[in-house]
Amino acid sequence: MNDLIAQLTEKLGAGAVVTGTDVSARATSYWDPSPMAAKAIVRPSTTEEVSAVLKLCNERGQKVITHGGLTGCVQGTDSGNGDIVLSMERMATVEDIDSVSHTLTVQAGAVLETVQNAVREGGMFLPLDLGARGSCTIGGNLATNAGGVNVIRYGMARALVLGLEAVLPDGTILSSMNKMLKNNAGFDLKQLFIGTEGTLGVITRAVLELAPQSTTKNTCLAALSDFSDVPKLLNHLKGTVGASLSAFEAMWGDYIRAVTEPGFHSAPMDRSHPYYILFECDGSDPGRDNDRFLEVVEQAFEEGIIVDAVLPKSEAERQAVWAIRDDFEAVLAPKPVFLYDVSLPITSMEAYVADVRALLVERLPQSDLYVLGHVGDGNLHFFVRANTESGDARDLSDRSVYEPLVRYEGSVSAEHGIGFEKKQWLAQSRSAAEIAVMRQLKATLDPKRTLNPGVVID
Ligand code: ZN
Repeated sequence: MNDLIAQLTEKLGAGAVVTGTDVSARATSYWDPSPMAAKAIVRPSTTEEVSAVLKLCNERGQKVITHGGLTGCVQGTDSGNGDIVLSMERMATVEDIDSVSHTLTVQAGAVLETVQNAVREGGMFLPLDLGARGSCTIGGNLATNAGGVNVIRYGMARALVLGLEAVLPDGTILSSMNKMLKNNAGFDLKQLFIGTEGTLGVITRAVLELAPQSTTKNTCLAALSDFSDVPKLLNHLKGTVGASLSAFEAMWGDYIRAVTEPGFHSAPMDRSHPYYILFECDGSDPGRDNDRFLEVVEQAFEEGIIVDAVLPKSEAERQAVWAIRDDFEAVLAPKPVFLYDVSLPITSMEAYVADVRALLVERLPQSDLYVLGHVGDGNLHFFVRANTESGDARDLSDRSVYEPLVRYEGSVSAEHGIGFEKKQWLAQSRSAAEIAVMRQLKATLDPKRTLNPGVVID
């Protein structure tokens, strides 16, 4: 096997192959600080080098695990001592920002926030945003079809992709770097690599569609006294400022109270309400947008849909309000804390959350449940703080969250993917026929099971 490392070093150069304690000095992931395990980390800097690595490893029957920013929540990038890790960290160039065609051409290892800033400097807007922006990479965002806070207006990562370049497990480079919105010339092969969690190929470059930069931004954190007002508020906003609505984030009262405990965020309003919605509109008419937004919030008050509201008056105040949503450190200790990501119709959410809560009270009575989510997209996140070291806590918690979903025809993964963590629950959201076709695709494109084997499906 040292022979393989020698060959990889010869092809890529010594600086591109990391071994020994330089591997274990890295953390497994953003969520798991334990030392990374791998035979070697290989760091190609071009698509041709990615191809050479995969060709060599595939020929030798060597497993390869692709790494982006390691912020995934479902253990999809976990590697073992026998694996080669293919890190995309040196392929991080923003190649082109085209203000005429409104497109971005970027390498897969570029960090989302860096790309967002480059696009902003170019006078445009990248409509992909999520809490992990400072570490996650474009390649990882596409491989997992990331969601985030702007989905309600712009769709998930998939919706932004015009072109893609990927390398198949045998080293074949599949370049579809299309810049047009319309291109129905045969199969849309790029879709094979978006949301398939690195199981069918390694994404190396992409062309993404950009949006115009907005010139107005209006934000409101509103308190609601009843869950039935949540869809009412969403519909009220859609019917009035719908075209500019860019975020509609819900936080249950327990979550707000936990993250505004002393030592964490300061509470922007009364902490005792059962539901809070953070919504935001991005527009392009400074003369009218602000007044219209105020009018719409006032209407919601008059109709009794919201009972309290805070409107940030500066960017600093706006960021402080968003930090309550994005920075949930307060609920992450003591460990273990289990994070969930499910989707179901908004009309079923209240009943579903009540079911989960009842099951947790029965099975893990000492646990705490914190609920938030992109409810405009039908997406809920849970933090279950177990408050016990008991070995079966994870299983009891998983079952309490996933089992009641069946009744509401929800999905066990809204935006985090399946990875290793949710594999046993996949059959709850996908039919046997669907899973069989997933296996057929894997067997066709990766017959030797070189890439991320065991992720999503066995
Ligand atoms: Zn999310």
